[in-house]
Amino acid sequence: MPAPGSILIEDATIVTVDPRRRVIEGGSILVKEGRISEVRSSRIQSGSSAELKIQAKGMALIPGLVDTHMHLAQSLLRGCADDLSLVDWLKKRVWPIQAAFTEDDGRVSAELSMLEMVKSGTTSFVGVDVVSRYGFDGIAGSVVKAGMRGALAKSIMDSPGYGRKGRIMPEGLVEEKGATIREAKSMVRKWNGINDGLVRAWVAPRSLGGCSRKLYEEVGELAGEMRTRVTMHLAEVREDVRYAKRNFGLTPFEFIQKVGLAGPRSLFAHMVWLNESDIRGVGVTKSSVAHCPSSNTKLASGFAKVPELLDAGANVGLGCDGAPSNNSYDMIREMKLAAVIHKARLLDPLTMPAASVLEMATINGARAMGVEKEVGSIEVGKKADLVLVDLKKPHLVPHRDVVSNLVYAAMGSDVDTVLVDGKVLVRGGKALTLDEGRILGEAQRRQDELISRSGVKL
Ligand SMILES: [Zn+2]
Repeated sequence: MPAPGSILIEDATIVTVDPRRRVIEGGSILVKEGRISEVRSSRIQSGSSAELKIQAKGMALIPGLVDTHMHLAQSLLRGCADDLSLVDWLKKRVWPIQAAFTEDDGRVSAELSMLEMVKSGTTSFVGVDVVSRYGFDGIAGSVVKAGMRGALAKSIMDSPGYGRKGRIMPEGLVEEKGATIREAKSMVRKWNGINDGLVRAWVAPRSLGGCSRKLYEEVGELAGEMRTRVTMHLAEVREDVRYAKRNFGLTPFEFIQKVGLAGPRSLFAHMVWLNESDIRGVGVTKSSVAHCPSSNTKLASGFAKVPELLDAGANVGLGCDGAPSNNSYDMIREMKLAAVIHKARLLDPLTMPAASVLEMATINGARAMGVEKEVGSIEVGKKADLVLVDLKKPHLVPHRDVVSNLVYAAMGSDVDTVLVDGKVLVRGGKALTLDEGRILGEAQRRQDELISRSGVKL
């Protein structure tokens, strides 16, 4: 679909998340050639000749949401792994089903995830743990077609384990070291920066136990040489701490520092089990964290110390994780959980105010992806990754504090219009670049076939 050269959005409540955190009532913005060229509290005269005009009275205009940790290849597992302990969740459900994936399953799962994300206001995402059998090329091609901004992280491993003995992956998911590195290099070369920079290719060491110490060091070197970024699950469950202590005599974060992977180009998901010194270390090294509150609570992993991490100067974004652990990819719902659970944990209703949580879902997420100069806020010169949320709903009226309504009361289904890079991907709640009817039908059929092929009894 050709992008309109200029787009005028009028009469919106603009939540800028700019350095002054301005909220502009009755505001207008003009987009030219994919970038925001004007933001005003009044009409934009030069916008009268815009190719596309959107009347946005009664709507909030917010920066596109950034999901910093999500699994594209897990939406086909929705409803297959609930109310189980982590070991049963992995060994009896998630791994065997994922080990039966074909490349077409990988592609359709990515399309289904993106359909849900874009319709609920997510414009950018970090899609983690893309293993070879899901078909990296098919998934990356589907991101280009969808027009979303996505970093795809190729999984890297040299051991079939995860944490302690007895958690051995099924054969279909295991990759041999030489092959995993070769494919990661080739995928980064082929896809990093494609589609005007909308698609990025990163590297993702599998969790503690899936990589040897030497491989962690090599991943850091490879990311540096290829000028890409690193993401991985870290300190997600208490067992990770025991594993790192037993094998390396360190905490998980100390180990990651030791092998040279902590730093501003690294994004660590979960980070639930950190001690005070780890928390300071995350701040000092300027590493980013993906906080996944639904996943951490559903899998009973624990509560990440997010207010403490923010106080230590860490950059913390938000993530939906996956369909077996969340079970949705709706960042607006995720914002509410992030805002409320820490209040209960610390018995402090003042912690994690709505405005901080919106920052996590926008500008902090953009920083975690290394694109904060391009997106994450509504400012002149930035790329037009924008979302209109319809506030004319019973649960969003009266309209007084728009940030409060967005974080505490809104839902992904309130999203009306979504732009990425100045292209309209959703209008009137309908996806324009993803074929919803075909994807929903294919996802249902493929899940049925996948479950029977995997031999898992649900
Ligand atoms: Zn995850």
